[in-house]
Amino acid sequence: MDKIKENPVDFFRKKFLKLQRITNNIDAGIATISYNKLLTISYANDGFFKLFGFSHEEFASKIKNKFTSIVFKDDLPLLLNKLSQIQSTSEEIKIELRAYKKDNSIFWLLIKGHCIKLNETEKQFLFVFVDITETKKVQQELKIAKTHYKIIAEQCDNILFEYLIPNDTMIYSSKYINITGNKPVIRKFKETILKSDYIYKDDIKIFLSLIEEILSGKNFVSADLRIKSKAGTYIWIKIQATTIFDFNNKPVKSIGKVLNIDKEKKEYFNLKLETQLDPLTKLYNKTVSKSLIDDYLTTQDIKTTHAFMIIDIDNFKSVNDNLGHIFGDSVLSKIALNIKKPFNNYDIIGRIGGDEFIIFLKNVSCLDYIYEKATSICNIFKNTYTGENKTHKISCSIGISLYPNHGNNYDELLKKADYALYKAKQHGKDCFEIYTEGIIYNDQFKKDNLVNSNISTINSSLDNTLKDNLIDSKLDISFTSKDKLLSVSDMQNVFEVITSIDPLTGLMNLSKFEVVANNLLNNNLQKNKYALIYSDFNKFKYINDNLGYAIGNELLIKFSNLLSDSLEKDELLCRPSSDNFITLIKYNGIKNFKNRLASFNEKFIKIQKQDFNNLKLSVISGICLISSYNNNLYSIIDKANMARKTIKDSHKSQYAFYDKKLHIQSTKEKKIESLMVTALENKEFLVYLQPKVELLTKKTVGAEALVRWLRPNKTLIAPGEFIPLFEKNGFIIELDFYVYEEIFKTIRRWIDEDKNIFPISVNVSRAHINDNSFIYRLNKLIEKYKIPTNLIELELTENICFNNMDNVINQIIKLKLLGFSFSIDDFGSGYSSLNLLKDIPIDVLKLDKSFFPSNNINKKEKIIVSNIVNMAKDLDILVLSEGIETQEQIDFLTNIGCNLVQGYYFAKPMPIEEFEKIYGIKSNDS
Ligand code: C2E
Ligand code: CA
Ligand code: CA
Repeated sequence: MDKIKENPVDFFRKKFLKLQRITNNIDAGIATISYNKLLTISYANDGFFKLFGFSHEEFASKIKNKFTSIVFKDDLPLLLNKLSQIQSTSEEIKIELRAYKKDNSIFWLLIKGHCIKLNETEKQFLFVFVDITETKKVQQELKIAKTHYKIIAEQCDNILFEYLIPNDTMIYSSKYINITGNKPVIRKFKETILKSDYIYKDDIKIFLSLIEEILSGKNFVSADLRIKSKAGTYIWIKIQATTIFDFNNKPVKSIGKVLNIDKEKKEYFNLKLETQLDPLTKLYNKTVSKSLIDDYLTTQDIKTTHAFMIIDIDNFKSVNDNLGHIFGDSVLSKIALNIKKPFNNYDIIGRIGGDEFIIFLKNVSCLDYIYEKATSICNIFKNTYTGENKTHKISCSIGISLYPNHGNNYDELLKKADYALYKAKQHGKDCFEIYTEGIIYNDQFKKDNLVNSNISTINSSLDNTLKDNLIDSKLDISFTSKDKLLSVSDMQNVFEVITSIDPLTGLMNLSKFEVVANNLLNNNLQKNKYALIYSDFNKFKYINDNLGYAIGNELLIKFSNLLSDSLEKDELLCRPSSDNFITLIKYNGIKNFKNRLASFNEKFIKIQKQDFNNLKLSVISGICLISSYNNNLYSIIDKANMARKTIKDSHKSQYAFYDKKLHIQSTKEKKIESLMVTALENKEFLVYLQPKVELLTKKTVGAEALVRWLRPNKTLIAPGEFIPLFEKNGFIIELDFYVYEEIFKTIRRWIDEDKNIFPISVNVSRAHINDNSFIYRLNKLIEKYKIPTNLIELELTENICFNNMDNVINQIIKLKLLGFSFSIDDFGSGYSSLNLLKDIPIDVLKLDKSFFPSNNINKKEKIIVSNIVNMAKDLDILVLSEGIETQEQIDFLTNIGCNLVQGYYFAKPMPIEEFEKIYGIKSNDS
């Protein structure tokens, strides 16, 4: 009632003042806006003006109280539209829009309010204004981050997932559909998965323990298992996940990724399998063949029949002896390739000896099937190319046994098949035979057990081959029956001839030489001093590989003719193997001897010029003088050969004598060889560590393992004294693996005892690179000690890379795939090839210490070293300089940007315990 009595002007003034009092204390803008074209502001509080940066007066004069002037023009239609919608209702309106401040900058506003009807025609809006620019910014960033994340999730090959633990619900990112073809959200995850064949059956255990680990609240989990792919095949994946906990420390979520590691895994398994294959033929080796067959047979019942074949090449020795081992090897690998053809993938084919193969034929239904297969094998061998020279044609004999009739495991079947093989050979080779003695066939096999009569029809004429050989070697042995098989005694005679003559050159071979030389030396040494010369060609392999075996053979024949022609009475010559020749000649003083050698060389050069397009092949010889003899021919040959091996650079000298120095060395070597095995067993070899220091920080960042030999008498022998010998006699393989194991053990201990962990480099001798079991063995050790492979660096000396480059690169790539690092050791000490660096994927280049003589590095070396460092940088290879002893060297190397050094300046190699004392404690930041 009061309201009506009062003067309306007063009434509104009072109300206004009241509103002003209230709203000016609110930290937001409040305004009433008339609903007209310009949206005139009839009232606004201080907060409103503050929002826009105006004063009352400025707003009135500049903006003329028009709200439309301060709304960002793009957002104005939206505002007007909204207002027209709500002007007739009492609904609350809420709009976000942009507006201009006094300085023309744009900011975000949240506008909230109602429409108030003043009378029939006049409407006003009462609005609250809030600056939401900050919130908008955060929202925007969040949106960008989300899009970003989504893009990443879509682009990366990994599937991301979120496993909601309490709901047992799995949510995958969209990649999941691409890979598995399944829906990305899986409720009742565990149950659903277990009910399906989604996880490979052998891996279910892994899956269950993974879930178990997540539920038990393990922070980080990881597992490799196989899942069914879209194509229906199983693929390898790696699951990695982190668990998230609620405030009660209960696991609520597991977030992680699924990586497709199928390719890597399969590569790894192939790698493993490959180490079990026979390196030459890529067939299973003996051990694997046996275990595959035995494993298979344990799953078989006696109603099924399987055949076991053993195949032996009849005259392989003659191929090897006459055409060389390299050629022999190529024959074997060709056979291996062809032999697989007639068989099914599931049959087992192996090489169990030099020229022995086995084939395990699964599920044979009748004997004809075996005949057919055996006949094809015989044909494969007969059709194998063994050079133009028809005398070395090969064939094979096959012995066959049957499961279950003749045995139910590899050994029994092998024994019976071997016996059948022996019978086949007796029947004249190039044929096959099934084990028969005392055997009752089961019914299906009975029909056809007249095996021998069949065999004779596929018997090729061995006697012809032998006859050819005999004619070649110009020896007179008469046959008792020309067209039939030879008698046993004939056979012996024939073999004696074959085995004493080298058919290629007509020279005697080593065993014949032994007999004749013994005779000669025992009788003639009173009259004459003799010299035994062991010669071979420098790089004969090059001729064979590049010009072909025919040229190689021709060269050998010409050379041997030349040698024979230069022999005098009571002098001998033989060819023990491929390009090796042994000559036994009279020795009448050094001058005369040298003259003979020189004249011989001249003739040989002439022949090469005339007949071989100026080949420039040189002959390297080792010479042992014989003044007394006690039937020790082989030790004389060894001495000559030893002298030969001392010649490395054929440009300097083409022959070397076995002298006192060599004698001392050889005696020493013999002594070392007699001690080495027990020394290894007794742990006399000690592993030292020499720190590697980063030049920039002067911090120790790794170490190299170097071996020493501590004899029981406490003398410490340096590796230079025994490593070269061990590399020659192969013992280095055992020693190196001993070193590797000591290092792995040490690293394992560092990890377990929470010590400082340093990557360690180990030396890899050349012998390993050609040894196919190296990777397998190394990997076994790594697995045994669970060492991350990136902690191990393998040092290869540059000369490893020379011969057999392809093989080396191959091995390195495989090892790199397994995670090892690589360095090239002693770079610059020999025939360095900078090309090497671009072809081999190495991580570190170790500059040989010969670059850094202790007194002064000269200008030339400085230029070379800094260029190598630059080039390595371009190739992303780190450079480590070895043998660094002085401050001057450090300064120079720091200057040119060399990364690492190793040398006495910082530390000498030291026992592991000492290394640990200095560098092992974590806080010690050395
Ligand atoms: P390397 O691999 O080149 O090893 C570096 C050699 O340089 C080590 O000789 C080390 O003691 C020496 N050295 C380090 N700093 C300096 C320095 O400042 N000045 C000088 N003058 N020499 C320094 P070490 O230990 O006598 O080994 C000699 C070689 O024996 C090694 O040369 C390596 O080729 C071989 N070797 C050593 N241990 C093993 C092993 O376990 N397996 C194999 N396969 N070879 C090994
Ligand atoms: Ca080394
Ligand atoms: Ca070195």
